[in-house]
Amino acid sequence: MSLSQLARSICESPTLKLNETAALLRDKGEPVIHLGGGEPKSKAPIDAIVSCCSLLQTGDVKYTPADGIPSLKKAIIRYTEEHYDRLVAPENVIASSGAKQSIMVLLHAILDPKEEVIFPVPYWVSYPEMVKLAGGVPIPVTARDGGFEPTVEELAEAVGPYTKAIILNSPNNPSGVVYSDEFIAGVVELCEKRNLYLVMDDTYNRLIFDGRTPTNCYRFTQVRHLDSSKLVVVNCVSKMYAMTGFRIGWAIGAKELIRAMTNIQSQETSGPAAPSQWAATGALNGVQSSIESLRLTLENNRNVMMTRLGAFDGVKVVKPGGTFYCFPDFSACERDSQKLSRLLLDKVRVVTVPGREFGMEGHLRLSFCGTVKDITEGIDRIKWALDPGAPNELYLGDRKLVRDWR
Ligand code: PMP
Repeated sequence: MSLSQLARSICESPTLKLNETAALLRDKGEPVIHLGGGEPKSKAPIDAIVSCCSLLQTGDVKYTPADGIPSLKKAIIRYTEEHYDRLVAPENVIASSGAKQSIMVLLHAILDPKEEVIFPVPYWVSYPEMVKLAGGVPIPVTARDGGFEPTVEELAEAVGPYTKAIILNSPNNPSGVVYSDEFIAGVVELCEKRNLYLVMDDTYNRLIFDGRTPTNCYRFTQVRHLDSSKLVVVNCVSKMYAMTGFRIGWAIGAKELIRAMTNIQSQETSGPAAPSQWAATGALNGVQSSIESLRLTLENNRNVMMTRLGAFDGVKVVKPGGTFYCFPDFSACERDSQKLSRLLLDKVRVVTVPGREFGMEGHLRLSFCGTVKDITEGIDRIKWALDPGAPNELYLGDRKLVRDWR
């Protein structure tokens, strides 16, 4: 088969692959616990469903403007005013098929071949591949102190003549860390000084714990007019409204940039699916209580996860301030995260995501977006698998496991 160099250089999304593996094993009746998932279990808000159905019932489901229907853009403008204290124009907004497509068309719109995009380690698995797809070069920056938040100076050291953009994702997938205001302010300043794009991936912005308030990056900008600014804020309904399958996200940026992104999107997909846009409009305009109830559930799950992991000798974990992921360091048990993740799936049927996919060996990403039972049982199984002092036998349902490793 003759495939392009580009196709051969792009890896499959490891998280989507794990979803498939978990589903296949479950179909076979295997007692799988999925701690690798990236979506809340709750249902989409009723206002989203009603709005979507009202379009479907007309049977009149047609192409929409490539950058989104006016009512969705209006809802996004209101959202931006309420949560970011910024009044933007419809021309500053593009709705896409998920935050992923917003970021993808943005990269296509700003990158020339070999230009570089910097992001902190650990990073969302897709950033390096998306940058490569757009012809650019990904530059991950690891904190010298081994932590989850490099310093502004460390990012600045990575800036060179080919640097075009920095991407920040806070709260962060996979670490759950909420970057400090000082760090975000420093990166905004760095980008404005060096004339770089700053992409704020705010996918998990409102899923934060311990009484924190979401960070608003616009507070730190010195560029008063959005149309002269290279700051781009990306959001989506996927996580906060538990609407991953609808595939709606958006970006807010300078009019000229949004126009370029819209041209690219119009040639790629003609725009997001109409029923999904209606659903997202319903969610954004409807009763907002589902976000708070999801947030509370996740905070409780986070606490359960931390208690369980806290009792795990040798495993170090940083308490996540948001998202539904944590990123414990298992290197005392096994440094090779792919080997470890494979062992846990093969032996005790727990799905985890290897830290290597996020740029950090020795770690595993564990999700707490499932049930409390999944979290407690999942961690108990991991502990059994890795603790040489544990009893030699474990029951998964009525199946008896006998340790034949370590
Ligand atoms: N950014 C981050 C950090 C994510 O974790 C995800 C989804 N896993 C996305 C963007 C993409 O979101 P969407 O499903 O809306 O494309």
